[in-house]
Amino acid sequence: MNYNPRKYEIIRKRSLASNIREICIYAPSVAKSVKPGQFVIIMSDENSERIPLTVIDWSKEEGWIKLVFQEVGASTIKLGMKDEGDTLYYIAGPLGNPSKIEKYGKVIMVGGGVANAALYPIARELRNTNNYITAIIGARTAELLIYEKELKEVCDEVLVSTDDGSKGFKGFASELLDRLLGKDSSYRIAWIIGPAPMMKACSEVTRKYGIISYASLNSIMVCGVGMCGACRIRVGGKIRYTCFEGPEFDAHQVDWDELLRRLTMYSREEKIALEHLQKEIRGV
Ligand code: FAD
Ligand code: MG
Repeated sequence: MNYNPRKYEIIRKRSLASNIREICIYAPSVAKSVKPGQFVIIMSDENSERIPLTVIDWSKEEGWIKLVFQEVGASTIKLGMKDEGDTLYYIAGPLGNPSKIEKYGKVIMVGGGVANAALYPIARELRNTNNYITAIIGARTAELLIYEKELKEVCDEVLVSTDDGSKGFKGFASELLDRLLGKDSSYRIAWIIGPAPMMKACSEVTRKYGIISYASLNSIMVCGVGMCGACRIRVGGKIRYTCFEGPEFDAHQVDWDELLRRLTMYSREEKIALEHLQKEIRGV
């Protein structure tokens, strides 16, 4: 960088698909200590909602962190409206526990949608620790498939699945996972990151093959430090907090149905917030 960015300034932005953006933000205090698997909580503006986003990449030297997000509702759409040179109001982090990186041998990683990017920092660190990594990356359709090139740089193999067959295997990532594990019994551990229904389906597959699996949970989260309880989930029958005890948990112990229910808890309020934002954008 040949200039001095302001705190939380967006120093680079690119679109990865019609509704998926990648931004690099100047946040030296996060960049100096973040580890693979951790996330931040951001507020775009003073009155914005707090939203958690995984840290995908960073530079300690240059002081930036990279976030990849899908515009799904009011807060992520507002964040997507920010451009290079704009600043965010607030960033808390790094939050959550880093991924448990060890020498496992053969590792299978499965991603879905925007979360394919979240595999990247974990795969890179696993690779640096001399693991052999196969990634299965899934998307609804080829246009929404992100991070294939980036993952090829840090994985030994990258397999693609699309629901409509527009690229790679036609079907769900969980089906491709089932085929792969049915043929190859040498995988020791799995990472699963994506929408909750996809993580539930993949965890059933790895359970069948007896493969230890981590899932990075995307529970609704507000404070990020264990005070508010919004992100509580049941793992192995016990209440756990995704923010400070996760975000990764033993996928075979997660109560997926409860997580799925809790993710729709505020649908009404989310719809109202989106309608307000759409009116604001139209200027009415
Ligand atoms: P809304 O319309 O408010 O909500 C859309 C849906 O998103 C909701 O139905 C709900 O299921 C979920 N959601 C809403 N509010 C929250 C919240 N405060 N926390 C979590 N989920 C919420 N998304 C990405 O695109 N990229 C990431 O790297 C990423 N990393 C995440 C890491 C963690 C640890 C967690 C918990 C979530 C992560 N998410 C990520 C999900 C992201 O936080 C939500 O998509 C975002 O908060 C939605 O906000 P919204 O106002 O735009 O949408
Ligand atoms: Mg919201």
